[in-house]
Amino acid sequence: MTSIIALANQKGGVGKTTTAVNLAWYLAAEGWRTLLIDLDPQGNATSSLGLEKHPEQPTSLEWLLHDAPTDECLQASGRDRLDIIGANRDLASAELDLKNLPRPQRRLSELLVPVQHRWDIIVIDCPPSLGLLTVNGLTAAQRVVIPVQCEYLPLEGLAEITGTIERIGRSLNPDLTILGLLMTMFDSRTRLSIEVVRDVHKRYPELVFRALIPRSVRVAEAPSHGLSIFEYDPRSRGAEAYGLFGSDVIARLGLVPASQDGEGTASVAADAPSAAELTAVTCVNVEVTRQGGGERGDDSR
Ligand code: ATP
Ligand code: MG
Repeated sequence: MTSIIALANQKGGVGKTTTAVNLAWYLAAEGWRTLLIDLDPQGNATSSLGLEKHPEQPTSLEWLLHDAPTDECLQASGRDRLDIIGANRDLASAELDLKNLPRPQRRLSELLVPVQHRWDIIVIDCPPSLGLLTVNGLTAAQRVVIPVQCEYLPLEGLAEITGTIERIGRSLNPDLTILGLLMTMFDSRTRLSIEVVRDVHKRYPELVFRALIPRSVRVAEAPSHGLSIFEYDPRSRGAEAYGLFGSDVIARLGLVPASQDGEGTASVAADAPSAAELTAVTCVNVEVTRQGGGERGDDSR
């Protein structure tokens, strides 16, 4: 069965797109047939992978609203097993135009049903709002990853997104659950970063991923070269952290390793670690980080 993961948080600039792109790249590199869907009119997921804008290339707008066939909207990413349905700023009109369709919240979900078997994992990058595009992403997904920026106190915003997820779970998509919260842009030199991680752990102890994504110049630079962090600087701490995150996603989804030779073969692993086990490791990481002082702060890598 295909796993569909949405990256969502109504707060802007928290690392949704960076996480979607690096997660999709990692999963494809690990052998999973992966589709990345860009649902954000900013089109950052599309450009982050270096895909050039061709006016004639149909995007998620034409797919969602103008009946363009899925195959025409798919773009090869230039990486094995990684496809993308891109976006550009024209998608901004979709928030209004979707309303004129029957079942506007379910448009993406209905488009995916007949084609999703072609991929093992579908990653959806949502825009920074809780409008119809994000609702479409959350209605199509089974699991949500919420990136949480370690640079401001996020509990109020988190209550808003988790409330939205609960509402969508009750009304539109009973399968929807939170896969986890990913702490991003962590800088151990700032007390605020450490406090934010602690607060989020205290409030959502089961959900925080053990990977702490560091604030890193290399992570920020990679998209402007059209590359994932794994391609841009595979030895960086950003690549290490996103690799740990990717492996946790695979574990939390209960997937067994995919074959590396083309066809992914998703199935349920009997010994996937429980959320509690993963959380225990996270706590250790936070503690080590706290004691380690500046060693794990920002750096040139
Ligand atoms: P939006 O809500 O606008 O869609 P977003 O939540 O998708 O934003 P990103 O676009 O991933 O967030 O990141 C916001 C900015 O922060 C980008 O310039 C990105 O390159 C940078 N950034 C993301 N993660 C990191 C990191 N770990 N270290 C340093 N910079 C980062
Ligand atoms: Mg984004």
